[in-house]
Amino acid sequence: MFDLLVKNARDIKGNALEIGINSGKIIDLSESLQGQAKEVFDAKGAYVSAGWIDSHVHCFEKMDLYYDYPDEIGVATGVTTVIDAGSSGEGNIKNFYALAKKAKTNVFALLNISKNGIVTQDELSDLSLIDEAKNIARIKELPDFIVGIKARMSKTVIGQNGIIPLQMAKKLQSKVKLPLMVHIGSAPPKLEDVLQELEAGDIVTHCFNGKENGILATDGEIKDFALKAYRQGIVFDIGHGTDSFNFKVAQVAREEEVSAQSISTDIYIRNRKNGPVYDLATTLSKLLKVGYSLEELISAVTTAPAKNFDLKNKGSLEVGKDGDLTFFKLEDKQEILVDSNENIQQSEQILTPVACTVAGVLYQESEKK
Ligand SMILES: [Zn+2]
Repeated sequence: MFDLLVKNARDIKGNALEIGINSGKIIDLSESLQGQAKEVFDAKGAYVSAGWIDSHVHCFEKMDLYYDYPDEIGVATGVTTVIDAGSSGEGNIKNFYALAKKAKTNVFALLNISKNGIVTQDELSDLSLIDEAKNIARIKELPDFIVGIKARMSKTVIGQNGIIPLQMAKKLQSKVKLPLMVHIGSAPPKLEDVLQELEAGDIVTHCFNGKENGILATDGEIKDFALKAYRQGIVFDIGHGTDSFNFKVAQVAREEEVSAQSISTDIYIRNRKNGPVYDLATTLSKLLKVGYSLEELISAVTTAPAKNFDLKNKGSLEVGKDGDLTFFKLEDKQEILVDSNENIQQSEQILTPVACTVAGVLYQESEKK
């Protein structure tokens, strides 16, 4: 007896796949599954993957600058897990947790090293807001919620502090042994100085931004130090955002065999409603246009973020993993895709989520408000 039996789905290679879920976990997978079930979902030939993980979002609804609602960017758009990337810090993350645990979508957080997260744009301009002991205490207090730490290393954020906040983040990381996500943008600090501080496994978000201080040199090639960082195992994450995804940078990188390992949106209410982000599927469709295969795209929102943030029960379709699934179609549709710099491309195909499950609970697109 299954709690939920998924019929007539296909894996991303196109093979028939049926899935049984019990008590929130995947308990059986095969090309044809029979048996009693409390609920049957007919996927009608849609693709199924492990539930999509968007590893850079802003969904602490009580914030003023960057905020959204977990389920609006989560289960309503085929995303089963979101990781809030530093909206809050040790001073306010408990309030965020109290709200986040009510969501249908799985919500995790990266702790901003600055006390109150992104209350103002320049959260790392005052070093007295970075308190290592309090950061460590908070991380110990919320081990199932805080899955990493976040430092935003760009001009408007750091004030006169140069690389110091990043060094403080690295020091904290060495004590708490958690993944570190670093946001890059305009200098100072110089991208080269940021990458210098990082090690394999550290995550650089906004990797394909179109700014002067990005990975692309003026001669149109990837800067040597960026290539070196990539080859050393520093994780390149999309973090599309209002300001931080450029088609040309993504294309040149691709030609030089630099691909984003994880694909995230940096979504919040304004770039969701007004674009250019809209949702994770739209970001995936943009990378499809750049030439990423379906397998690469899905890995970048499942296995890769699960590995990057050590989400052990998520990210793959296997017996024993959480019953988080995303169902989607690949549709032949010519749509206008716009990057963060108003460059336009036309799609040949787009990804369209049709439903998802979180711990075996089904959410369909028709329920979208
Ligand atoms: Zn962000």
